Order: sequence, then structure tokens, then C-alpha cells
Amino acid sequence: MPASATELTIDKAALLARYVAERDKRLRTDGTAQYQRTEGVFERYKLDVQADRIEREPVFDHVTFAFVGGGFAGLVTGARLAEIGVTDVRIVEKGSDFGGTWYWNRYPGAQCDTASMVYMPLLEETGHRPSEKYAHGPEILAQCERIGRQYRLYEKALFQTEVTGAEWDKTASRWIISTNRGDRFTATYLGLGTGPLHVPKLPGIPGIETFGGHSFHTSRWDYAYTGGDAEGAPLDRLADKRVAIIGTGATAVQIVPHLAAAAGKLFVVQRTPSSVDVRENRPIDPDWFATVATPGWQRRWLENFTDNQAGGNARDDLVQDGWTDISRRIRSRLMGLPREQMTQAAMIAAYEDCDFEKMEEIRARVDTTITDTTTAQALKAWYRQLCKRPCFHDAYLPAFNQPSTELVDTDGKGVDRITPTGFAVAGREYAVDCIIFASGFEVGSDYEKRAGFDPVGRDGLTLSSAWRDGMRSLHGIHVHGFPNAFFVQPAQGANLISNIPHNLVEAGRTIATVVGHALAVGKPVVEVAENAQQAWVEQLLDGPPRLLGAPDCTPGYYNNEGQEPTAAMRSAVGYPAGPSAYFRYLDDWRMSGAFTGLTFT
Ligand code: NDP
Repeated sequence: MPASATELTIDKAALLARYVAERDKRLRTDGTAQYQRTEGVFERYKLDVQADRIEREPVFDHVTFAFVGGGFAGLVTGARLAEIGVTDVRIVEKGSDFGGTWYWNRYPGAQCDTASMVYMPLLEETGHRPSEKYAHGPEILAQCERIGRQYRLYEKALFQTEVTGAEWDKTASRWIISTNRGDRFTATYLGLGTGPLHVPKLPGIPGIETFGGHSFHTSRWDYAYTGGDAEGAPLDRLADKRVAIIGTGATAVQIVPHLAAAAGKLFVVQRTPSSVDVRENRPIDPDWFATVATPGWQRRWLENFTDNQAGGNARDDLVQDGWTDISRRIRSRLMGLPREQMTQAAMIAAYEDCDFEKMEEIRARVDTTITDTTTAQALKAWYRQLCKRPCFHDAYLPAFNQPSTELVDTDGKGVDRITPTGFAVAGREYAVDCIIFASGFEVGSDYEKRAGFDPVGRDGLTLSSAWRDGMRSLHGIHVHGFPNAFFVQPAQGANLISNIPHNLVEAGRTIATVVGHALAVGKPVVEVAENAQQAWVEQLLDGPPRLLGAPDCTPGYYNNEGQEPTAAMRSAVGYPAGPSAYFRYLDDWRMSGAFTGLTFT
């Protein structure tokens, strides 16, 4: 196969050396301990700014299915249960409405990063046509509310409520659930969809607590201070303000264009640049949609997207975007190879070459967009595309051409300190009125720490002790010792990161099938056998190493900030043959009706 023009000009050895040097610059001994939780004086950073507290009487009743978390996981599971006639579902949610991440994250520019056609759940069932290829936050939130209404999930939901305990009552074969609102109710089944990235974290910058100006975390956007709204109205109260945003991850990339357009002066404080590829968002044409949305369309799109971006065998690419691009490139390279050369090593080499090529294009995009050469150099990402969350945006880079916007690049070191009047980097002090923390969310910490409670299963077994040496499950859903409990999340299943909802939709379908079977055969208690769980976990851990979170990557939450992975992270693996194969396997497992590995009593 002839080498492409880009291929010929790439000096791979020099690039690798640069990648290593940039990573080494950022490695630090404190790893994730560099961050601080939003506690004590920072408690206000996680308060609900959307709604006032609603008073209500506690509940002490029984439901068939209780679900912790009102995001996509709870909604799709609740919907699938309703479809099989289990309507007695209670979702318990900390926020004041459904939506999960889309309830909390209402910052300007919030938008799905994965195409709406595959990202927004239950489009076909609800009959909703997304307005854009990548829908904005309010539309996604409205879809959550639509699901809630259509499947009557509002009727039993408890909002502004945090679960404080869930304990299996062996005698009555039901879960006892308690909350911070004094509720104590029971449920035959318990679903857990508490989300992987929902506890805001703050950078451990010295002096952070001394700042005397205004400040907030991106997941609790303060429109009262900035003006504007989540629907896109300009942030009109910032015209005379000097604003700093600390962090340049996927969230900041979406926010910066809006701040740049509104703030008197904007400082974008960067430790590591994101890779920012093209977005090319556009409205969805109703006529086109009508031709596509034939029965079964969303499942076909989901499978096609997963097939394309996670190394499947799809012939066509329905979504066609940055997520599928690298797979398209790898496939086209491999297709040119004779059959006997199609080895794993050849695939890894093809992946590496395509990645170099892709990242060179992303860096070239910075040069062609940014007018100031120093700023352009600082905005280039020197790592493989999947070392950090890839970003896609067409207005982020141009924002740095505005005279009022200044990139404060910390050369991998981070902010030196925060003062009562601003912040300091490399000995220079910047006075600001407002600091916005785009510093992300707690990841990879113990389940009970993020969920806020530690489920207690059979014979007093806590989840924290069951998972002391890492997660153990069958399909990421069933956990031995926790009868009638179902986890809805990606790990130990498909582990598909580019489209989390696909994991959730399939888990919801599985749970409804299992519960439907348990109720139909009159054996309502379902639990995974220990040996089945053991075999599943072993199969997963014996699989190929993850490309995501590789130790040679620049530090970030994908690789535990460059430190040894924790037990929780090591066990957050997926089906060795990949997400597409996993979804096919799970479908066969469900459809067979044998539910191999589960016991029903
Ligand atoms: P991230 O954890 O990705 O980013 C945190 C940022 O804060 C990084 O740029 C980090 O730098 C920076 N930072 C941390 N400490 C310091 C410091 N001391 N000084 C200066 N900078 C510092 O959080 P995000 O909220 O951006 O994204 C979290 C995740 O949410 C994403 O990865 C993605 O999964 C999801 N998301 C999805 C979206 C979508 O689908 N639409 C949109 C937005 C987010 P460094 O890189 O050096 O650590």
C-alpha cells in the first residue's frame, strides 16, 4: 500500500520523544490526591442552584423496583420495566428532576459530544427527532423529562432525595431503602445508576479557600452572576468582569467560546491542552430523518456506531464523525494488507500510525486557526488521541483570537496559588472578579464514596468489602451476595466510552428481561452464582490491555493521573472481543432464556 503524504512527513521517533517529555513534565507524586473534594467551605459548590427545597412527608411503603439515580440509567431501566408491565418503579434522585448529568450541567454551550442519533436514549420510542447532529443540553434534558412522562416515572419518583442506605432483608426477600428525607421503604428489586462522573472536584491549588471574588464549579453554573441562560442567551453580566476559567477539558472547551464572547477579560488557565478536532454540527433535516427513522432505526444506528468506532465489521458508517474517523483509517490501512499479515501487531502498528496522523492534523488545525504563534504552540496536544477525552469543537480555538481572551499556559505545572484577589502563574499575578472551576469530577474512587452509601447485601456483606480488591460482577450488572440488585454502568460489560448510553440501554433491556422472567416463573429472587461471576471476571482480566488509560499517556483521570491504577480501575475492563461482540453476546444470553450464571429462587 503506498504511504500517504502525511505518513511520509511524520517523524515518529521525534513525536514519541515529545510525548514522553510532555508527560514527564506533568507527572506528580500526589496523583489523584492533588484534588480536593467539595466539602467544608466548598460544600456550596455542589448545592442545587436550579430549585428551592421542596418539603414532603417521608414514605414508608413498598415498590417492586427502586432505582437510585434519575439520569439516563434510571430512565432507560424504568422505561424497559414499564414496557414489560412493571410500572411500580420508584426512582430516587438527588436533583429536583430527571436528567442526571444533564440536570446538573447547564453551563453555556453544554452539548452532547456523541451524535444525538445514538447518544439520546429512546428516540424511537418517544418519537423525538433531534434538532441537531449534536444536541444542546436543554434538548437532552427535555428528552429525559419526556421519557419520565411517557413511562409515568414521575408518579413514584422522589426528587431532592439522597439514598443513605440500602440493605437486603433476607427474611422478607426485599431491599430496605433509607434516605436523607427520613424515608424507609422496601423494594423487591434495586437498581443502581449513580453515575461515574458526578461528584465535582476542585484543584488542590494553595490558597483556593482565600479567594474573595465570586467562584463556582462548572456543574453548578451561576447564571444569576453571569447573566444569560442555559438556552444560549449571552452572559450579559460579564461585560465589565475579569473572569478566569481553570481547566481546559471537555467542559471548558464547550464553555470558553461563550465566556470569550461576553467577558470584559477572559483568562483561560491551561495545564494540559485538549485535542480539539472538528465538530461540524448542523441541524437535522426532517425530510432526511423521515427516511432514516424506519422501525428499529435507533438500534441499527447504535450498533453501527459501536461497530465503527470500536473495531467492528460494519460496511458503512452512519454517524461519520471524529469518533469513527480513527477506526475508518485503521480499517482502510488493514484492508490493504495481505491476509497473513493481519496480526495483532499489525493492528497495533496501524492504530499507532493512524493516531500519529490524526494528532498531526489536530495540531495543524491549531496553526491554521490561531493567529498568535505563541498561543498556537501552547494549544497543541502532545499525546495520543485517546490518552485524554478527545474534544470536538469549531468555536473553541477561534475564541483565542479575540483580543479580550488570554491563554495562561502553565506549561504543565498548574496554577501556583490562588489569592484573595486572583491567581498566580509563573510568578505573575492576575487579578480577577470571578474564577470558574472547570476541574472535573471524582473518578475511580470507591463506589460507596461517590454513591454516598454502601449497599449491604446478603449476611451483612457490604459492597465496599465485596469490591475491596476491585469490582466483581457478571456483565457489570449482577453481583454475588447482592440478590435482586442490578448495576447500570459500562464497566465489566461493553465498557464503551464513546457512547455511554449504549451501555445503559442494553443494561436496562437486560434487567427488564431478567426481572420479567423472575416474576413470570414465580421465583422472584435472582442472584449470580459465585463461580459464574468468577469466570466472567477472569475472562475479562485475561483480555488484551486497554488502550484507554495507558500508563505512558499524559496524566489524567483515564490513567489515574499517571500512577499505578487502583484496584477499582484495574477491574474496570470490558469484554475482550470488544463492545460490539459484547452486545451480541448479551443479546444471545438474554434471548436464550437460560440466563446462564443466574439462580432464581
Ligand atoms: P476534566 O477532568 O476533563 O478536566 C479538568 C481540567 O482541570 C483539566 O484541564 C485539568 O488539567 C485542569 N486542572 C486540574 N488541576 C489544575 C490545576 N491545579 N491548575 C490548572 N488546571 C488544572 O473535567 P471536565 O469537566 O472538562 O470533563 C470531565 C468529563 O466529563 C469529560 O472527560 C467527559 O467524559 C465528560 N464531558 C462530556 C461532555 C459531553 O459529552 N458533552 C462535555 C463535557 C464533559 P490536566 O489536563 O492537566 O489534568
